[in-house]
Amino acid sequence: MSAVVALVAYRLATLTRSGAVAAWLVGTMVLHGTGWEGGGILAAFFVSSSLVSLGAAAPAGLDPKGGRRDHRQVLANGGIAAAAALFGLHDPQLGIWLVTSALAAAAADTWATSFGARSEAPPRLILGGRVVPPGTSGGITALGSAGGAAGASLVAAAGAIAGDMPVLLPAAALVGFGGMVLDSVLGAGLQGRFRCTQCGERSEWRRHRCGRPTAHEGGLAWLDNDGVNLTAAVGAAGVAYAAWLWLSPMSP
Ligand SMILES: [Zn+2]
Repeated sequence: MSAVVALVAYRLATLTRSGAVAAWLVGTMVLHGTGWEGGGILAAFFVSSSLVSLGAAAPAGLDPKGGRRDHRQVLANGGIAAAAALFGLHDPQLGIWLVTSALAAAAADTWATSFGARSEAPPRLILGGRVVPPGTSGGITALGSAGGAAGASLVAAAGAIAGDMPVLLPAAALVGFGGMVLDSVLGAGLQGRFRCTQCGERSEWRRHRCGRPTAHEGGLAWLDNDGVNLTAAVGAAGVAYAAWLWLSPMSP
């Protein structure tokens, strides 16, 4: 089943080849750990995020990797969901709780990017409010933020229904939105900033897409955009687990 989904995504050009393999692995682990309920939540995330991404031009401002997501991008968010699903082998409700929260954070990111790309107003840095070129890490728009909230809420609703846990709707929606904010704060404040030594373009990566190495200009040199995404996803999962201990249907 997850192999079919990964293949379709590859054909639709939303994933690179390595991204499709990573998505297949994530799908298999989520199904293994949380069964068809988790698979349904993953499908809600995957289908809705693919739909909102269609036709949204990738922001050209800062060295985009292109419209297709590669395995590092898939694993930064999906890998956390896959690992979280393994908790479901021990406690099915906890597995659903964590998978929903991780995917709500992933949906917030994806939807915010897609909606933000359609924003008339330019993005502003979440720290300080300076206007920045579209695609700059840590830059946010009102439309993008609203889209992120909608995406997180949709996945949270799917999880609340699949797991029959109404409190998961507000909990996962908040965790997802919070993960997106954390991602932006880290992107604006700590992420490494680079400039290509050959063509002089600014970049988020240690190697520019033209193939040349980049020079470090600011931020943490070892923390690139994928690292920021992974850190935000781990943070969201941690908060989700704390929320489970506090709010779960099983707690006294
Ligand atoms: Zn270059």
